[in-house]
Amino acid sequence: MQLASASSLSDNELDTLLRRPRVDLPSIFNTVAPIVDAVRERGDEAVNEFTAKFDNVELGRAPVVLVDDLPDPQLDATTKAAFDTAYDNIRKFHEAQITAPLHVETMPGVVCERVNRPIDAVGLYVPGGTAILPSTTLMLAVPGQVAGCKTMVVATPPRSDGSVCPEVLYVCKKCGVTHILQAGGAQAVAAMAHGTATCPKVHKVFGPGNQFVTAAKMLLSNSEAMVSIDMPAGPSEVLVVADGGADPVHVAADLLSQAEHGRDSQVVLLATPDADVDAILKAVREQCSTLPRQEVAEAALGNSCAIKVDSLEEAIRISNRYAPEHLILNVANAREVADVVTDAGSIFCGRWTPESVGDYASGTNHVLPTYGYARMYSGVNLSAYNKSITIQELSESGLKSLGPHVAHMADLEGLEAHRRAVTLRLGMD
Ligand code: NAD
Repeated sequence: MQLASASSLSDNELDTLLRRPRVDLPSIFNTVAPIVDAVRERGDEAVNEFTAKFDNVELGRAPVVLVDDLPDPQLDATTKAAFDTAYDNIRKFHEAQITAPLHVETMPGVVCERVNRPIDAVGLYVPGGTAILPSTTLMLAVPGQVAGCKTMVVATPPRSDGSVCPEVLYVCKKCGVTHILQAGGAQAVAAMAHGTATCPKVHKVFGPGNQFVTAAKMLLSNSEAMVSIDMPAGPSEVLVVADGGADPVHVAADLLSQAEHGRDSQVVLLATPDADVDAILKAVREQCSTLPRQEVAEAALGNSCAIKVDSLEEAIRISNRYAPEHLILNVANAREVADVVTDAGSIFCGRWTPESVGDYASGTNHVLPTYGYARMYSGVNLSAYNKSITIQELSESGLKSLGPHVAHMADLEGLEAHRRAVTLRLGMD
């Protein structure tokens, strides 16, 4: 991890230090476009070919299985309890996001409403290249279940024996997922966006993934596939603000919990003057050397930095500028500090809130905007699974009050048929 002092850096130098690992999008689009075209043209057959090529698995059958056709997976009681607790918390938090329909009389006799309807069919990408992530299945499927999406397709690369990970299947059954597409990467996103003989066409694709998944989502959302996406996503990242009361061992564990995600992950430490930066960096080195994913974490630390700041205010200013996916405030009065955060995906407050709890089970969603997109995107939440429809109804007296204004505006815009739709009803012509 590079070490620097904010006071010796200009804003430009700070931006350079905090630059995320570059993703070479044009070259990735060149890789992904032929995959997407092949799946659009040849469907399941092409999907299986790419699975054989990139995941080394010969499925030898259609890539989609119906969840109802699969037997209940055998899981031990401890695993079930963990997933059940996480499910309950995530469900509770997302159910609380249900909004009441709006009903407003904007003027006498003019009633406007807004109602929500679930997106009928959604595709949920669960990464499975380097680690199988049943937790991501929960994060994507629970809001879909709460919203009432009828068709939910989970796409995830098959295991080497062609089977579905039992924990992923357990979550799919619990959340009402209808189909599992045993494929990963761009081919999985394309199959869901276009539909194949066995994979239903979906209207929106959710979920994180590597650069091939992200590029396919971006490409397809701008194509004739008529599909939308939750957000563009890049590699995972965390920014930790630590003060003198933060235990260096805990801070190091939090930084490493993000670094172990992928070689292209980035972690940032902002240390106030009373924080023991040397002890934190020493703990990072010690803990990293004993991680099973040491090599991945070390690569990520190469993209990462620790910055000494002069004050907590300066730390928050830098954090807001960076707009981290995850922001850990390991400082006194963290919850008050959170109130001045303007840009972040999810905030973890105080000494007792490691990022891991949000990754798995506190109830918040772990699919969050990375790469600075927290400036304009929210993490996955219930509203992303709904569309809202507006409704209006006017009484005769309502149209008598409003109609002349509308007719005048239509006249100004030269839209005669619009004007007549009002004036003919009101007998104005
Ligand atoms: P993945 O499932 O995203 O990708 C695996 C697929 O990539 C394979 O199935 C294969 O089809 C395709 N692929 C591999 N090499 C290819 C090549 N050369 N050309 C074309 N396609 C190729 O799994 P992953 O690779 O482990 O990546 C997971 C990513 O998701 C990580 O970057 C991780 O940080 C991120 N993640 C983010 C969040 C979040 O909420 N932001 C959560 C979990 C994971």
